[in-house]
Amino acid sequence: MGYVDAHTHAVFREIITDELLNFAINEWHAPRELLLMSVKEFVKILDDSEIEYIGVMAHPSRKLGVAKEDYALKVIDAVKDYADRFAVIGGVEANELTVEEVRYWLGRQYEAGISAIKVHPPHMWLKPNAYRPEEGGLKQLGLVYQFAEDHGLPVYIHTGTSAFSKARNKYGDPIFVDDVAVDFPRLTILMSHVGRPNWVPTAFQLIRIRRNIYADLSSIPPKRLLEYIPRLTEISEKSVYGSDYPGPGVYDIKANLKEFLNIQIPREDLIKIASDNPKKILKPLSRTR
Ligand SMILES: [Zn+2]
Repeated sequence: MGYVDAHTHAVFREIITDELLNFAINEWHAPRELLLMSVKEFVKILDDSEIEYIGVMAHPSRKLGVAKEDYALKVIDAVKDYADRFAVIGGVEANELTVEEVRYWLGRQYEAGISAIKVHPPHMWLKPNAYRPEEGGLKQLGLVYQFAEDHGLPVYIHTGTSAFSKARNKYGDPIFVDDVAVDFPRLTILMSHVGRPNWVPTAFQLIRIRRNIYADLSSIPPKRLLEYIPRLTEISEKSVYGSDYPGPGVYDIKANLKEFLNIQIPREDLIKIASDNPKKILKPLSRTR
């Protein structure tokens, strides 16, 4: 049985920059040795954790000063010898680029083999529905969703707060994801963090009523998952497990998975969430190139 951790921020010695290292130490409070692991060392941890593959976030975060659109290409290059163990999640900062630049970077990332696209409203400082005419009409963002829909790439959209010093949390409200689900009906949307902590009811309701919105359970401590989402089993067909490693407080990828597998819901629901569902939605690099 191989599990999938669909949401990590794993970084590797081969490609980490000083900016990213400092950011991860200062904002994630992650231990330095975790951040300086090689890809090969990381794969050993996955083996030991019975994790078949992980999703690695590699979207740009200019405002946090850590990455631009080429970062996804660097991550893909770093993990290519273990292409069945990693899915790389790319993205573009729609409100920082021209329409032509958005097209160019999406094309390059897609050709390189990204498995999904990430939109992070509180870090990018934009509403997830900012492409709508009544929300400012940002064409570049509409293009991102259209590209994802046309190319069968799922889109992760961060919902809920972010504790990072440069985050703008007004953009974390999941209600704005509703427009995306309606305007791009063939798009698979992973609603990251289910709006935690303060917007969970909104997120939960959208996951229930919108066929194409799924729950990405990452960064909610597994021990508290049923406190946040008491009716989790109602959405177990539409939920995927993720740890958010090595984000704040999540420094042991194996222990986090174990804690998840111990929560008090039927075993079949746990298997759906940590294996079957993510395997349907997120392809590893070996299946995207
Ligand atoms: Zn994350």
